[in-house]
Amino acid sequence: MKTLALIAHDGKKAAMLDWARTHREFLSHHSIVATGTTGGLLESQIGLTVRKMLSGPLGGDLQIGALIVTEQIAAVIFLRDPLTPHPHEPDISALMKACDIHNVPLATNVASANLLLTGLQALRSD
Ligand code: PGA
Repeated sequence: MKTLALIAHDGKKAAMLDWARTHREFLSHHSIVATGTTGGLLESQIGLTVRKMLSGPLGGDLQIGALIVTEQIAAVIFLRDPLTPHPHEPDISALMKACDIHNVPLATNVASANLLLTGLQALRSD
C-alpha cells in the first residue's frame, strides 16, 4: 500500500479537510502519514487512519522529510499558506527540497493535489 503524506498549514486546514472529504474513498485505500495537527483533524473529521508525526513547527515536517529521503513516501500533498509567515520555514523548505532531490511528487495547492490524485488513480488502474 502506497504511503501519502498530507500536511496543511493552519490557513489551509479547512481546504485540506474539504479535499480529503471529497477523496475519502481513495485516501482510505492508502496509508496516510501527516503532521500532528493535520493528522488529528483528518482522523476526527474525516475518519481516516493516520500515522501522526509531531506538529509541523515542532519538527513534523522534518520527520516526513526523513521518510521522503528513505523512499517511504509515494507523494506529498502540502497545502501551504503562502500569505502567512511560519517560524519553521527552514523545515518547510527542507521538506520540499527532499521531494525534489528524490523525485517525489509534491502538490502545494488544491488544484495540483487534484491533478496528482488523478495521476495516482491512473497508475492504480494500470
Ligand atoms: P500541523 O503542521 O499539521 O501540526 O499544524 C503543519 C505545518 O505547519 O507544517
